[in-house]
Amino acid sequence: MADDSIAVVDLDRCQPDRCSYECKNYCPPNRTGKECITLRGEDTMEGQPEQVRISEEICLGETCGICVEKCPFDAIEIINLPQELQDDPAHRYGENAFSLYGLPAPQEGQVTGILGPNGIGKTTAVRILAGELEPNLGRHEESPGWDEVLEAYRGTELQDYIADVRDGEVTVARKPQYVDQIPNSFDGNTRQLLERTDERGELDSIVDRLEIGPVMDQSIDDLSGGELQRVAIAATLARDTDFYFLDEVTPYLDMSQRVTSARLIRELAEKEDKSVLVVEHDLAILDLLADTLHVAYGEPGAYGVITPPKSVRNGINEYLSGYLDNENMRIRPNPIEFEEHAPRTETHGDTLVEYPALTKSYGDGEFTLEVESGRIRENEVLGIVGPNGIGKSTFAKLLTGNLESDSGAADLDLDISYKPQYVTIDQHMRVDAFLSSITDQFGSSYWNTEIAQPLQLERIMEQNLSDLSGGERQRVAIAACLSDSADLYLLDEPSAHLDVEQRVQATSAIRRYAEQQDATVMVIDHDIYSIDLLADRLMVFDGEPASHGRAGTPQPMRDGMNDFLANLEVTFRRDERTSRPRINKPDSQLDKQQKADGEYYYA
Ligand code: ADP
Ligand code: ADP
Ligand code: SF4
Repeated sequence: MADDSIAVVDLDRCQPDRCSYECKNYCPPNRTGKECITLRGEDTMEGQPEQVRISEEICLGETCGICVEKCPFDAIEIINLPQELQDDPAHRYGENAFSLYGLPAPQEGQVTGILGPNGIGKTTAVRILAGELEPNLGRHEESPGWDEVLEAYRGTELQDYIADVRDGEVTVARKPQYVDQIPNSFDGNTRQLLERTDERGELDSIVDRLEIGPVMDQSIDDLSGGELQRVAIAATLARDTDFYFLDEVTPYLDMSQRVTSARLIRELAEKEDKSVLVVEHDLAILDLLADTLHVAYGEPGAYGVITPPKSVRNGINEYLSGYLDNENMRIRPNPIEFEEHAPRTETHGDTLVEYPALTKSYGDGEFTLEVESGRIRENEVLGIVGPNGIGKSTFAKLLTGNLESDSGAADLDLDISYKPQYVTIDQHMRVDAFLSSITDQFGSSYWNTEIAQPLQLERIMEQNLSDLSGGERQRVAIAACLSDSADLYLLDEPSAHLDVEQRVQATSAIRRYAEQQDATVMVIDHDIYSIDLLADRLMVFDGEPASHGRAGTPQPMRDGMNDFLANLEVTFRRDERTSRPRINKPDSQLDKQQKADGEYYYA
């Protein structure tokens, strides 16, 4: 096969007891007596009958691809690597396994970002930089050792860093991606968890700025996702190490918490001269957070390429345009574009529902929500924004009839399909069985094109709900919500746990669905780019979180964004080349001017 092709067998999927080695029986070289696809012998995963290996020397490459088609479990990928990719990989996990090309280069005093989909090797890269994984330069059979690795990186930005890793001199603090799993590995309260991390003497100030105080004595088991996320960020930033790695800081955080976290991370790099590496899928926050950016591309699960560093502005612009300039590489057929000036023309649909002013209190008035009366139109996407703990879910429950208001009756004679913020579908049931129980459209070509494909469900259809990752569960939940027949679709934080590419896909699936089905959709989200791409109008919540909230009436995007961002005191300018919104530096000339003009977003 051509030098630039690889064969990847996903051993989690290869289940020879449930097929009869169709790949091997149909492989053309095998049929002429060559040993292209063979059995793995001892390398088979425990508990499996002998799995297959593919000889990359003999295989005919992507143009053949017969085994890829024949495998009933999608376990095989044959890929022609881009010709532009001339270097050897930094690491390959084994024969027919994932390979990683390129490494990010952390710099003292800087925040380095990585932008790209999940499964592209970001964690692998970090494990190498942390000294946990010795890279094999693609030679998985005889590992070359650190000295040769250092030789391979001589003369690059990574030379000094790798020398330190080889000498065991790099210490690391790390925030994991899925904070929901922290309670499984820690028994105790927030204070006990954080005390152990206070190595720089900065813990009190971090706790204060992330507003963790109120949950200091609460058991870690009882924290909400947003609270866990802030505790995990604090636990990482409070430590005193050379290298900090944060895998996604924004899930479950509201906009103001996102901005505060970004500023804390920047201060750590700038004031303490530390190296910080972040993976982040909220592009507005990544833009604010990072000094330089590596874009990661490839085929998730098969190979990943981490580009040399770019400026953050160019990196995000190239990513959105779908084309990487220096690499001469197209990573997406279509660009993602933002509207620059006037917000999208409003839909002039008929009224779907009018609701009166409503109030709702919990307990003895510990929390009170006041809802201004409003009107939701047919065939619109209504964005809902505001801080955490301000009553957005409460409003959703009033609308769905799951909760009774204290005054003013919502009394909506509507079927509502609701995706909650915390997705809890984890029954022992397969994804395909679950989704086909919701809609008879399941499996139709319309459903496949509009729902399954953009939400990348094909490869997980046969998995059990309980085995799905956070991002997979989110995609199934969005599909389930949209597949139900209803008058109103309400999605609470659909972007959580989706990587940047999946957000774009999910966003366009939701929009297309609304347009084609004449559906009315309400979306609560904290990712400003997702809201911008999705919403026709905006409903803004403000007040004092956990004490009282006020839900404004739905309004046009410009007015809504101005209200929302004025509460946060954050302004956006437009990138000259792509018109994408970028957060202004506080107190910069533009920031002051836009605040004076009252134009926070579409300036
Ligand atoms: P990301 O952090 O970008 O989501 P990872 O670095 O975690 O990606 O994983 C990239 C790919 O490498 C995945 O397909 C994963 O299955 C594979 N991989 C990770 N660890 C191993 C391992 N120890 N052996 C074989 N493959 C692995
Ligand atoms: P949001 O969706 O904006 O994050 P919520 O509507 O979930 O806000 O909650 C608003 C406030 O009401 C929070 O302080 C929350 O703790 C409180 N709250 C929510 N549900 C209940 C309940 N069933 N009983 C008492 N308090 C509640
Ligand atoms: Fe055989 Fe390669 Fe064709 Fe697969 S792609 S059937 S391994 S020649």
